[in-house]
Amino acid sequence: MLVVMNKKATQEEIDAVVAAIEARGYTARPIPGGDRVSIGILNNKGPVDASVVLGLPGVKDAIPVTKPYKLVSREIQPEGTIVRVGDVPIGNGYLVIIAGPCAIESRNQALTIAGHVKSAGAHIFRGGAFKPRTSPYSFQGLGEEGLKILAEVRETTGMPVVTEVMDFEHFDMVEEYADMVQIGTRNMQNFSLLRRAGKSSKPVLLKRGMAATIEEFLMAAEYILEGGNSNVVLCERGVRTFSHHSRNTLDLSAIPVVRKESHLPIIVDPSHAAGRRDQVIPLSRAAIAADAHGLMVEVHHAPEKAMSDGAQSLYPHQFEILCRQVRAIYDIFNMKQV
Ligand code: PEP
Ligand code: MN
Repeated sequence: MLVVMNKKATQEEIDAVVAAIEARGYTARPIPGGDRVSIGILNNKGPVDASVVLGLPGVKDAIPVTKPYKLVSREIQPEGTIVRVGDVPIGNGYLVIIAGPCAIESRNQALTIAGHVKSAGAHIFRGGAFKPRTSPYSFQGLGEEGLKILAEVRETTGMPVVTEVMDFEHFDMVEEYADMVQIGTRNMQNFSLLRRAGKSSKPVLLKRGMAATIEEFLMAAEYILEGGNSNVVLCERGVRTFSHHSRNTLDLSAIPVVRKESHLPIIVDPSHAAGRRDQVIPLSRAAIAADAHGLMVEVHHAPEKAMSDGAQSLYPHQFEILCRQVRAIYDIFNMKQV
């Protein structure tokens, strides 16, 4: 349930409503809005009796929240969230482009690619230091050395950096170096990792599990918000289907559904969806036309030598084309709707 306070409700009235909710054994979560405060009621097993709050001073209305997810839902927060990564905004009114290699392989590799993607117009640099690989014999990433290289990329180029955290024990380390912490597909339902992300002061990029429904995806984000971190960006990266013409099937319909259901920004990773370079630009164009708030794209200056995901990595000149085309599409729609 969402308790909507009057515009002129005082702090004392808000505190009294919170106390009344908590006295019933529920959790109360005040949510500041543009001109009024709302209070979410969480941890209720069944429907909440509105009379618990309706008669209290300062209360305007009590609205049942019909979805299993609450804090991420538009019912609780009608206006879209803007997440700031360093000084880069992600959300309505902005088109964010995140780019970089699949994995940080060396200082030279990272700085070379960062130079290319920055001049093409990328806002945020990506690169894995801890890589979730199908085979234990494949390159697993440089670990902390990779994180240090990412920090150097930020210092040299001014771009904030996003990188994946794969497990609970490395969270503190990744959080220290990264401007945004990525939780990958394979960990979308790693609940201890999600809870840890909820305690983080850094924004989180949460990728959709490869067989997750939208409801499961939003419930995973709910864990992070419930923990106290509302700076979450969702990322559609393709789901597993019967098709073999691409590595995964990009679920474009996830974009309008998420935008309808949630106030959190949603971006698209066409690279891991496609698994092959020739599909990345068309899927990127489609994602922006379908209202995604941005893209995360793998780029490598020498993809044939890449230690992971070379086949899907764009050459820098292709990335330049991608940036130009998606910006043109974004401008046509000039999407500013909430
Ligand atoms: C990645 O973005 O580096 C990655 C491994 O992607 P995903 O978790 O979507 O497979
Ligand atoms: Mn990759």
